[in-house]
Amino acid sequence: MSDEAFALLGEQGPFVQALSGFRPRLPQQELARAIESALAERGTLVAEAGTGVGKTFAYLVPALLSGRKVLLSTGTRTLQDQLYHKDLPIVRNALGVQVRTALLKGRANYLCLHRHALAEQEHRWRSRDAARHLALVRNWLPATESGDLSEVDGLPEDSEILPRVTSTVENCLGLECPDYNDCFVVQARRRAQEADVVVINHHLFLADMALREEGFGELLPSADAVILDEAHQLPDVASSFFGEQVSARQIQELARDTVTEQVNEAPDMGSLRDTAGELEKAARDLRLAMGAEGQRGTRDALLGRKGVEDALDGLADALERLGQILELAAERGKGLESCHGRCLLLHQRLKAWHQGAEGQVAWFEVFRHGFSLNLTPLEVGGLFARQRERFPCAWVFTSATLAVGKDFGHFTRRLGIEDAKECIFESPFDFSRQAMLYVPPAMPDPREPGYVQAVVERALPLLEANGGRAFMLFTSYRA
Ligand code: SF4
Repeated sequence: MSDEAFALLGEQGPFVQALSGFRPRLPQQELARAIESALAERGTLVAEAGTGVGKTFAYLVPALLSGRKVLLSTGTRTLQDQLYHKDLPIVRNALGVQVRTALLKGRANYLCLHRHALAEQEHRWRSRDAARHLALVRNWLPATESGDLSEVDGLPEDSEILPRVTSTVENCLGLECPDYNDCFVVQARRRAQEADVVVINHHLFLADMALREEGFGELLPSADAVILDEAHQLPDVASSFFGEQVSARQIQELARDTVTEQVNEAPDMGSLRDTAGELEKAARDLRLAMGAEGQRGTRDALLGRKGVEDALDGLADALERLGQILELAAERGKGLESCHGRCLLLHQRLKAWHQGAEGQVAWFEVFRHGFSLNLTPLEVGGLFARQRERFPCAWVFTSATLAVGKDFGHFTRRLGIEDAKECIFESPFDFSRQAMLYVPPAMPDPREPGYVQAVVERALPLLEANGGRAFMLFTSYRA
């Protein structure tokens, strides 16, 4: 067993010199050793590392030393940025290794040149903000190298233009696209393919695993190791990923793209515009029939409500009608051909949701302006295991919370993981002596507007009592 990573994180290693405040921690060194072995043997390791173990350094050290192609996946884009921009450079500098690294985000983060060109031709932007945001993108475009829209100063994350200037797997023209050679998504994936260590997130990882990004340069076939941090999130992400969805937003985008492409590719086919308008209206009718926002429930509960069946039939009919006209229009150009494919897919998914399928749960969610109809597999272990078999590399699953007691069964069964080496690395903190649990009484409901203010008011006295030494963690989801 190699002890290189163990030693580097110890008293004689470079981190003690390079980082003020760094103290060697035995659980961190042992975790690094276990990961180093898994990488060398192409094994599977499931490792729980309690708070304070320092698992990020424990996997970065063996990953950077391995000289192999390693994919590092974490739960969210924020954690991805932190790993890539903060932790990775520290470890690389301390080790003094020359390793090519890349950060790869989901395609929704990159400008789609084709859709941006279409959006520029559009004259019916609903708000002044949208026109202003489009101008920001226009001015930024000549200077960008990455096409990452987070570089655009002043562009809000919820700008209404974003779905119109970015792509999805469904609306991307792929190899047929006139902008394929300059495409930012293609270039980002190319850089990732050439790098030794690539930082991705779980959604992207699953898309790659299931070949949802075919034609864009897959990463997994060339990987020697996959390290999944925040692995406790993986079963839920996999459930939603292996499931299917029809949303008001997908329908709205299909209708709008159809209108834009019709102007370009089939200006004589005015019926496309009318039928796309009917589809948008059918989606609005269903939204109205579903009632107040914030609800979630099973399909059967929804179907029992007045007006819902009729609205669903109306939506299915509208998709069918648009599909028929798009079938005729598809030969006019790649844009309309792609709209035809999307329309068929949405129609098929809507039917599947309505009928239900064994082993899947059909459910719905209502938002302020939209809805989603979801079909989610009850069990993804078999699917995940079959996908994993195709890639016989090293697999490391780690998180602060994976086991129940000392048992990993709940986690490993959900992902169909068998024959993994399982380890628990206890937190170096003495919780019974060093920690206190405080649940503030009489807090408002998290959905109420005064909730954040109430959290601040309860937290301030605690911060003062503790002399300001605090690390505050929040859920990244809006309650
Ligand atoms: S290949 Fe896809 S993502 Fe790239 S520019 Fe074309 S449509 Fe957009």
